[in-house]
Amino acid sequence: LCFANVPKYQLNDGRRIPALALGTYLGYDKNGAVIPQNNLVRDVILQAIDVGYRHFDTATIYNTEEEIGQAVRIKVAEGAVKREDIFITTKLWNTHHRREDVLKALRESLSKFELNYIDLYLMHWPIGLSEDYSYSDVDYLETWRGLEDAQKLGLVKSIGVSNFNKQQLERLIKEGRVKPAVLQIEIHPQIIQTELVSYAQSQGVVVMGYSPFGSLVMRYGIDFPGPKIDNPTLLEIATKYSKTTPQVVLRWLVDRNIIPIPKTVKYSRLKENINIFDFELTKEEIQKINEFDDETRYTIPSFWQSHRYYPFEKVDNPIPNPFSRS
Ligand code: NDP
Repeated sequence: LCFANVPKYQLNDGRRIPALALGTYLGYDKNGAVIPQNNLVRDVILQAIDVGYRHFDTATIYNTEEEIGQAVRIKVAEGAVKREDIFITTKLWNTHHRREDVLKALRESLSKFELNYIDLYLMHWPIGLSEDYSYSDVDYLETWRGLEDAQKLGLVKSIGVSNFNKQQLERLIKEGRVKPAVLQIEIHPQIIQTELVSYAQSQGVVVMGYSPFGSLVMRYGIDFPGPKIDNPTLLEIATKYSKTTPQVVLRWLVDRNIIPIPKTVKYSRLKENINIFDFELTKEEIQKINEFDDETRYTIPSFWQSHRYYPFEKVDNPIPNPFSRS
């Protein structure tokens, strides 16, 4: 039942990472991250392993670590895969940026997974927060020391960062002891991130692209402007290869050596989204898709934009803080 043999990239720490990851973020409601219901994520991961997914992307804040761990342990017990065939990425949340808190947070994650190591631990944001979600000015370099500690202990094999801008990544590479193995950022046709991607890749940092479908799909129940699933430019390319437009967009990321992280909970789409390793776009087609770029982000935590380590450009009307506990 294995539909695809997903290739791997070499990381700068000697390990290898599958070139496609399944996203597991189900969204937020008014109380914070959505809690998965009825073992939804567990069952999706079981199906995903059957169709060939070997890399799962989660974060402490997504509430899906437990169910991913359950599914992986079921498949290992069945003998379908070995633990070392599976690559699990999770992320440190912003409230645990003090060096000693990193290990605490990671150990909590490990106990949710019920696994004794995870493959990749990312600092979710360069932004540190206190327990009550007020700003903390702990430097992300201090946080990085905590990730380095965790790697030394073998609790996590590789370490990296997410949502860092170029200056922050440069500083981390210059002043950290261990070079980040991975940078995870938002990448889709409307935000192609040419400069940050080429800087990271020139430094031997593997890039993962989140929200890969951009405006092709609804976000927060809203249909945003930008190329849709029936966009004529994308359709023309898709028709040429007998693929769908979501597959073309995922392949556009792969052809730029970026690991796409498509999320789906639907079996047919699990198969569709992994079935992208039997064709390749031309330079001209990649360029055509690049032309959708208008630097549109969908993940903009503008409620943190006055934080000293906020990584993105500021907006005029920041949205109220959904995490606020006051
Ligand atoms: P995606 O771009 O993966 O879009 C997901 C949406 O697309 C879902 O609504 C899904 O619906 C739908 N979809 C999936 N496949 C198809 C298809 N073939 N055709 C049509 N619709 C499809 O967005 P996300 O924002 O979820 O990003 C993906 C992952 O990236 C997250 O799950 C998370 O793991 C990671 N991420 C990381 C962030 C960070 O800060 N580091 C921030 C945001 C995301 P359905 O499930 O019903 O199929």
